[in-house]
Order: sequence, then structure tokens, then C-alpha cells
Amino acid sequence: MIYHRLVIMESIYWVFTHRCNQYCAHCYNHSRPGGPTVTLSEADAVIEHLPDTNRLILSGGEPLTEPEMLLHILRKARRKYGSGTHLALQTNGDLLDADALDRLLDAGVQHISIASQDPYHARRDGLRERLHTLLVSRGLLEVDVGDPSAKKPALRTFSFWGATPDLWLGGLWARGRALRNGIWKDDPEHNVCALWSGALGFLDDGSDRQETAIQLTSVYPCCPGTVEALGDVAQEPLLDILDRHRGDPMWEALNRGDPAAMGVTTGIDLEYARKRIRELGNVCLWCDEYFTKHRPQRSGDANEATTAWPEDERGRQPLVLVGELAADD
Ligand code: SF4
Ligand code: SF4
Repeated sequence: MIYHRLVIMESIYWVFTHRCNQYCAHCYNHSRPGGPTVTLSEADAVIEHLPDTNRLILSGGEPLTEPEMLLHILRKARRKYGSGTHLALQTNGDLLDADALDRLLDAGVQHISIASQDPYHARRDGLRERLHTLLVSRGLLEVDVGDPSAKKPALRTFSFWGATPDLWLGGLWARGRALRNGIWKDDPEHNVCALWSGALGFLDDGSDRQETAIQLTSVYPCCPGTVEALGDVAQEPLLDILDRHRGDPMWEALNRGDPAAMGVTTGIDLEYARKRIRELGNVCLWCDEYFTKHRPQRSGDANEATTAWPEDERGRQPLVLVGELAADD
């Protein structure tokens, strides 16, 4: 049996499926109809390997395209954590009806985040009004995004929001179809790495800013995702994966929300990194460049093969594709 020190993470954000009923131009992880999703055994292994957490957010893709998997994960998480963990669902809301909602609430969902109120999602006339009526009819309380009430275990809540240049996707992450379609945040001063959803604090056990993002089964320090994953949580405990990266100057710089410093111990000084961030227009594109062009090869690196998104789906060829409305997959 493996024993761990007691750690309660603040938040785990788990994208368990890249399957979606929509095909938005700004989708950072290329979710689409028929996209990849976890298997039942992978889902079980992931849950087994998660540490205690104050909050588990299930997202996609559109989680309700996989209703039985979603319910399975929710029930298993509730059995594992009891009432001590806040379970939240992020959805575009299209497939949420009375029957689905009742099953979700029965399985333990406490917050429903409807993240499709923006110009990028296909319009569903009357969606917001329909969902508001439905959610209120089941006793859920509407809260603003970021309202701490959304995390109170005693309350069942919901919120409406969407992608704007400054909210969600860290101000439109330079990832996936957003990057391909030229609608990413072209602003070198916007440091998503130091914001919630960025890498800031991902190694800081016990910190209220500690969040880890999981794409299918691959673990990342942030929602935008680094070129290399930290590890595969279907294969080993999440805390072991994090422990393996402590003390590495590159990951520690990202943990401080300072991607300009990620290469200083390998000869990439701050002045050069800041110049490249200005030229690339985005800190995450610099992070990609460091991984692909400057990071020293390390023998026996267990992380090399753990990237969830196939390279041709990540949209990580910014020098070629930025600004073009490239043919999509
Ligand atoms: S942005 Fe959301 S709704 Fe749109 S394709 Fe991606 S996962 Fe689906
Ligand atoms: S700079 Fe790197 S670690 Fe930081 S948010 Fe962007 S991709 Fe993640």
C-alpha cells in the first residue's frame, strides 16, 4: 500500500472527454463530435489516483454527450470523497433537460456552470431562459461566476458565462482551434500563467490557488496545457506526479507564474525570453517554444509520451498558422 502525506488540493479540473455536440471556432482542445474520450477503466484509474480535493470540476468537450460515463464518474467520486468535495459540472447546456438534471443532482452535482454565453458558440434560441427555468425549478440558486457561494457545500448553484477577450480561456488561449483561427489573445502583457487556470501554484500543496488540469488522463500544470504533460494519472497517483517535478527550475518558474524565467538555468536569460514573448504576442506560445526549441533533452524522461492531444491537433505551429483561418480538422 502507498502512503502519502495528507494533501487536500484546492481544485482539480478534469476534461474527461473531447467529444462535443458543437464545433466552436475558439475551442482550445479541439473538441468535436466523435472526439476522443476516456474508457471506463481509465476513468476508474484516474479517480483512484486523485488526491483529496476541495473541488472537482468535470468538463469537456461536452460532458453530457457521455451521460453514462459522466454519471459513473460522479457516483464514483462521491463514494470516494463523501460529502467533503464540491462536485461541479461545466457544460454548454444544449443537452441539459429535466431528466438529465435530475440524474446529475442525484449523483451529487452541486454546481452547474453553463459556459456557452458568447458569440463563439452556436446560438440556441431561448437556451438561457429554458435552463434558468429548469434549474430554478429544482431549487438551484443562480450565482455570478467566481462567487464563493458557488463552492458552498450546502448550496446547489448554477452560473451562466462564456468566452470574452478577458474571461475564460485566460483571455482566449492560444491553443487548438482558437490558435488556428486567429482568435487567441494576442497580448504579451496578458500573463495567463499567473492567473487562475494558469500554472501559478500548481505545486503549492495546501494553497488556495492550487489547481491541476487533466486532459483525458494526462496531467498539466494549467488549463492551456504545456507541450509535455506532467504525467498520466491513469498510471500513477497525482501526488507522485507532482512530487516528481518539484525542484526542477523550469516547473518551479511556471509554478511562480513566471514563464519568462523557465529557461534561466539552461542559458535562456530573461531578456531573451521577454523579447520572444513580445514577438510571439503570448506567454503560452513562448512556453511552447521553450519546450520545443530550448529545453535540454533528458534521458529517461517519463513525460515524453504523455501528451493527450496529438501534435497535429494542438495547433502548436504558431509561426505558420497565426492569423490564418486555417483549414480545420
Ligand atoms: S468550446 Fe465547448 S461547446 Fe465549443 S466545441 Fe469546445 S467543448 Fe464544445
Ligand atoms: S505559460 Fe505554459 S505553464 Fe503557463 S499557462 Fe501557458 S502553457 Fe501553461
